[in-house]
Amino acid sequence: MIARLHTAGTKHRLPRQRSGIYRSVQYVSTRGQAPALAFDDVLLTGLARDGGLYVPAVWPLFSKDDIRSLRGLSYAEVATRVMAPFVGGTIPENTLRKIAEDAYGGFGHTAVAPLKQLDGSLWMMELFHGPTLAFKDYAMQILGRLFDHVLAQRGDRVTIVGATSGDTGSAAIEACRDRDNIDCFILFPHGRVSPVQRRQMTTVDAPNVHAIAVEGTFDDCQDLVKAAFGDTEFRDEMTLSAVNSINWARIMPQIAYYFWAAVALGAPERTVSFSVPSGNFGNVYSAYAARNMGLPIETLVVGTNSNDILYRYLESGTMEITGVAPTLSPSMDIQVSSNFERLLFDLLDRDGDAVLRTMNGFRQSGSYTVEPERHARATALFRGARADDDEIVATIRAIAEQTGEVIDPHTAVGIAAARRTQAGRDGSIPMVSLACAHPAKFAEAVERAVGTAAPLPERMADLMDRPERQTVMPNDLSSLKALVRDRAARRGAAA
Ligand SMILES: *Cc1c(COP(=O)(O)O)cnc(C)c1O
Repeated sequence: MIARLHTAGTKHRLPRQRSGIYRSVQYVSTRGQAPALAFDDVLLTGLARDGGLYVPAVWPLFSKDDIRSLRGLSYAEVATRVMAPFVGGTIPENTLRKIAEDAYGGFGHTAVAPLKQLDGSLWMMELFHGPTLAFKDYAMQILGRLFDHVLAQRGDRVTIVGATSGDTGSAAIEACRDRDNIDCFILFPHGRVSPVQRRQMTTVDAPNVHAIAVEGTFDDCQDLVKAAFGDTEFRDEMTLSAVNSINWARIMPQIAYYFWAAVALGAPERTVSFSVPSGNFGNVYSAYAARNMGLPIETLVVGTNSNDILYRYLESGTMEITGVAPTLSPSMDIQVSSNFERLLFDLLDRDGDAVLRTMNGFRQSGSYTVEPERHARATALFRGARADDDEIVATIRAIAEQTGEVIDPHTAVGIAAARRTQAGRDGSIPMVSLACAHPAKFAEAVERAVGTAAPLPERMADLMDRPERQTVMPNDLSSLKALVRDRAARRGAAA
């Protein structure tokens, strides 16, 4: 069924399907050349073979009654119902429910994603109650379990290899720990990640996860991972796989917290706006997905730090690469936003050839421009706002003074962006700003703003005393290959 997207002033159509009658959502590549796949294959494949990103061929549509029926449910149940149509036909709903209950049952807050009111119309949704204290846990904890489930059914195993500059590696390690069918190797630059970041990776006591300190930079780590994947013989031998942010299964679980927050604030009767601290555009794209599914969302504020490619795009219609400079909000220090390609696909009317041409041009020239009528569809929903380091510090201080809440620097970007966008509006539509990391993770900015660092939550208070386990490795591919083979063989022998 084709339904009109309720975007004011556009003639733009997106394919949608009423929930309940779906059989199995198929996924298509944004570049139009790779085969359409079912959910389980999309999960294990990650990036499409044509270099594109997988998106659902149709958006499952939630009616007002479907949305109303989410009221009062647990977070895990809301997540189950939101995800069910996307996995339909490949994973039974009861299995999905068990996965969600298991994933979110271990979170540090019974509400999982609690909402706090900061002023008359501004709310904050805390997404830092997972094992690594940042929002990526909300998707990663589901992703690891989905991988394990699908692999067990197929009698397969995979070896996850990834690189981290500090923050996201721990979310991957926590997602893979104790999963029967996954071995996980995370490379980070030796001596160049903070003690808290390192310890979040090295204190995980599970035989299938390996924190590898590479004698080199983050770029060296990334190059090693690329080289490992580029070595087809090795890739096939070890069944290498990735859990990076372009995997559709990273987007899908994030859609749930937008439904959760909107329903708590009165949806479907009331409309809500969100402010999302953005880097790769994955999180805010999940909000866009929620809106395509029928959630009444007015505005999506895309907050950036001074690495502001998304802000500049929304202002001008031109996506243009410039340099990247370190900021107080390092998880948003990106040069290009890989998930933006999913929105571009819709702006170009789902024409994979047009996306392919645009992305090829982008690779060559470092920029592309979206035609004004098409760009207007983006700006009808998305507003950009930018905060530099000074504004981050000022926002952390102001929120502490006004509300007593200590927020992290990424969260501060979202709140600064929300306030800028709300200025001059009557405040009748609530704005929910996403708190994407716990303030204890980013001590420097918090100390600068309020004088003292925020303490780690109780359940992690002994992080600095836990025993560490890491392997220091020279920066070369043959060392990496030997290490991966050796560890996998040992685990095979133990099993
Ligand atoms: C990853 C991350 C972001 C950026 O999210 P995207 O989905 O890449 O836009 C923002 N804040 C924190 C704390 C993060 O870890």
